[in-house]
Amino acid sequence: MPNKLTATVICCFIALSLFAQKTIAIKCGNLFDAKAGVILKDQVVLVKGNIIQSVSPASSFKEKADSTIDLSGYTVLPGLIDAHTHVLLQQDITTKEYADQLLQESIPYRTLRAARSALISLKNGFTTIRDLETEGAMYADVDVKKAINRNIIPGPRMFVSTRAINTVGHYALSPEEFNWELDLPQGIQIVNGADEARRAVREQIAHGADWIKIYTDRGYYKAPDGSYHGLKNFTKDELAAISDETYGSRKKLVAHAVTHEGIQDAVSAGVISIEHGFGMDDDCIALLAKKHVYWCPTIYICDYMSEPRAKEGGMMDKYFMQTFGATFKKALDAGVKIVYGTDIGGYSWDEPQAKDFEYMVKWGMTTAQAIQSATITGAQLLDMEGKIGVVQPNAFADIIGVKGDPLQDIKILQHVQWVMKDGKVY
Ligand SMILES: [Zn+2]
Repeated sequence: MPNKLTATVICCFIALSLFAQKTIAIKCGNLFDAKAGVILKDQVVLVKGNIIQSVSPASSFKEKADSTIDLSGYTVLPGLIDAHTHVLLQQDITTKEYADQLLQESIPYRTLRAARSALISLKNGFTTIRDLETEGAMYADVDVKKAINRNIIPGPRMFVSTRAINTVGHYALSPEEFNWELDLPQGIQIVNGADEARRAVREQIAHGADWIKIYTDRGYYKAPDGSYHGLKNFTKDELAAISDETYGSRKKLVAHAVTHEGIQDAVSAGVISIEHGFGMDDDCIALLAKKHVYWCPTIYICDYMSEPRAKEGGMMDKYFMQTFGATFKKALDAGVKIVYGTDIGGYSWDEPQAKDFEYMVKWGMTTAQAIQSATITGAQLLDMEGKIGVVQPNAFADIIGVKGDPLQDIKILQHVQWVMKDGKVY
């Protein structure tokens, strides 16, 4: 226990360091108000340390800031949120690409590459990411997050899920495709039965998982009537154990679920969000709307991988792309909470991270709604409302600038020109 004198010294130090924090006035030609979904003209954002102090019209701004950044020729927005990334993955469109990473790259090597992914995300204007599993790189996402938070490497705010969970035989690398005599590395934590499932959740949380990710389905197919289906990965007991242990530890559950069976199982296990849902049917849309479950559709990757996967004999992504637009429109009209997420890392980090916006707008969202999916909706998903996804007093100073007006042309978000995270310019 510190004595009284030490405590006083610490308090004085904190007070002095707060006092010493510099203020920056950012002059914004256009400022996107994420809550209202409109552009405000000629605003000044005052940042102190890593927090936004005030937002006011330039005409009434009187404060003397320590420095000024002139973004009067830009549209300024809150830092974007990508709710589905893989910093530890460098594209796995083909089976070989995935296997090469797990077989030829050590986890330290993959973590070095992840540092590059994190920097790319930041430069892309995605100042917060929910990274949905390491694909065989164990708990290295927790290390990347720590290194960012300790200012060792630049990167976005990270919410991590560590290893993710699936059952035996339902994830790569598959013994069927390799020499079965080898002890193959696995892209996932494998469980069998409720006790092992519970243990995996405990282990992942102990290592720093913010979210627990499960894969509730696999083996997708199109029935003769055109409906999509898949095979279930978990028993009811396993799902119940995972859910109980996750929420009992005040963590959150998320599921990779693509078609009816997997989505129904995921929702009954109490997931906060459904990832992909490419083959979602009307029943699932109604269920998500009723239960207020978020849908993170990861659209671009489905389109991006449909051709190369078709060449390998997998036709499902092509089929999904034929109906994705209509599914998206139905979900939007039904009031499903659609959150922006890309699955980048599944496709190359050198590809655009803001590409999903284009599809969302093409399929019925207004440009403002599309940006809101990557700002206020992302913040709600992460329980960070008022802290991220908005440019307003008391929020973190995560702010980006683009040339032109993204409400007029959403593609502009693929060319972020200026990024501030936590009050620091990158
Ligand atoms: Zn993913």
